[in-house]
Amino acid sequence: MNETPVFPNFASADNVFDFTDRDGVFTRFKFNATTNNWDIVFISLPVLVINKVPEAYARLSAVEYPRVGEKVLEWDGLLYTFEANNSWTGVLLDKVIVDSSFENNPCLKGVYDKLGGAPTFQNYLKEYDGDFSLVDLKLSVGVDTQYSLAGAVTYKPINSLIEIKFNPNKLNTPPLNIARTFIHEMIHAETYRKLLILSGKGEIPWSSAFIESIKNNEKEIAHYYMMYRYEIPLGGSPSEPQHEYMAQLSRNIITDVMKQFDSSQSVDVYNALAWIGLMGEGEPNPLTGLPPQPTAAWAAIPQVERVKILKIYFDFIENNTPCQ
Ligand SMILES: [Zn+2]
Repeated sequence: MNETPVFPNFASADNVFDFTDRDGVFTRFKFNATTNNWDIVFISLPVLVINKVPEAYARLSAVEYPRVGEKVLEWDGLLYTFEANNSWTGVLLDKVIVDSSFENNPCLKGVYDKLGGAPTFQNYLKEYDGDFSLVDLKLSVGVDTQYSLAGAVTYKPINSLIEIKFNPNKLNTPPLNIARTFIHEMIHAETYRKLLILSGKGEIPWSSAFIESIKNNEKEIAHYYMMYRYEIPLGGSPSEPQHEYMAQLSRNIITDVMKQFDSSQSVDVYNALAWIGLMGEGEPNPLTGLPPQPTAAWAAIPQVERVKILKIYFDFIENNTPCQ
């Protein structure tokens, strides 16, 4: 038995090569004609092997008692599922492009690693999974001068690529708050992905005609765009339609991901954090709790409650160790 795979001398695009090593690790490779490499597309990995070299499988080895069917996105880009035969099977998630600027940032890499174990977050990532994906997602780090105060920016798709860029100057906040930013941006990305797929193009046509045309497919998204972007008079604020949408419909999802990421906080803390980013544009006034351009959902919360939520948030930030 060979210890390492011996690939055929001649291969063409998508040729498949299977290899089982002496530890019983089964690997399926696929020939990538663009890079001239054999990419790993599938692995079956016995738990015993992970125990031997835990450092090679940072996320898998962190799961002490895996449940059958449990999913973990390992740092090698494969999504692993725990199987009944005490092994993990991994499939390639080749549509999430992790830029080196992101991979080399210990804070962001750590949060992403840990989020890989949160099932709700994985469901979002899976949208970019494999052969049926029409859209790629890129994660990177950098300052966008137009949004230098934002924790991260999700760019509308260009050539079917959606990019989430994290602001390196905004990482001096607890990891849970960064996880919150992460899922917030993933929801933006998901909204763009839906709109892009419906457009059938590489970019979203930002016209009221297009938004009108998707009314039957993505009712809620279309509704918020009509109300806020196209200023159809419903008495709404002019802030971003996606934030209005998220403030009304996505705070539960954000809370679920935060709990899966870190279950040690109180209900009040999750609730306060779930509002962050969804209160509207600008800094909230300490007396009213309202920013200059509040979202309708935030403005509808009684003032006493708004001020209380902000205090819980600021206390949380002050009393927890920052990520970086
Ligand atoms: Zn946002």
